[in-house]
Amino acid sequence: MIFDTHSHLHFKDFTDIENEIKIMREYGVKYATLVWSDCDTSADAIELAKKYPHFFATVWIHPTDVWENIDIFTEIEKLDKLVEKERENIVAIWEIWFDYFHLNEDKIEEEKEKQKELFFGQVEIAKKYNLPVIIHTRNAKDDTLKYIKESGIKKFVIHCFTENYEFTQDIMDYSPEAYFWFSGIVTFKKASDIQDAASKIPLSKILVETDAPYLTPEPFRWQKINTSGYTKFVLEKIKELRGESREEIENQIFENSLNFYWIPALSSWA
Ligand SMILES: [Zn+2]
Repeated sequence: MIFDTHSHLHFKDFTDIENEIKIMREYGVKYATLVWSDCDTSADAIELAKKYPHFFATVWIHPTDVWENIDIFTEIEKLDKLVEKERENIVAIWEIWFDYFHLNEDKIEEEKEKQKELFFGQVEIAKKYNLPVIIHTRNAKDDTLKYIKESGIKKFVIHCFTENYEFTQDIMDYSPEAYFWFSGIVTFKKASDIQDAASKIPLSKILVETDAPYLTPEPFRWQKINTSGYTKFVLEKIKELRGESREEIENQIFENSLNFYWIPALSSWA
């Protein structure tokens, strides 16, 4: 069984959710986590999670807002109210950004500071409601590690992993409850650092994701739209890279996903 730990099947790219579920079943993908968003979506992740047993929802403050004139305190308060209201339908705070790749050249320090404030604000909500945290890091690994340590959070995942093996060591030295998500990027020919990390870190630390409709894995990279069913190909690559049996890899990664989201062993509905 496979768990797509990061998907956007509620986006406008997907017009027929039942068909996406059908594709998930064809490839043995039992669950997908959807990211709540109040923009650019055709359906609300929380509503889909309530309606279908295949989906779970996560919530966040959209990071592009960092670059606009928003009041961070107000945004945090809004998120807090949403989590309070929907706590039983939410499995994580998603995703907190440290992205120094897209910084505006005139405002580098100011924007870094805003990302930091958003990080600490959302971490407080995660602690308050006992939720794990998903962290996005790009060109920012030193600050990411520094602020994770300062915040004291232990249960988190580094999503869309694009760093190297050394970085995973630093993270694991700090927290035994940290995980790493591998996306379709691990299937790309040039992703040798990522493949190296995926082959060396303990199996108990690995999760797989699609980020559908983005990051379509090989052999479907030529297709524009990714879908949760294709988590199978990310998993296939991990199986190819590692020494354990195929069955052990699949079972352990599925169990890691349930553990990460604190989802109890679910009754079989399939
Ligand atoms: Zn995403």
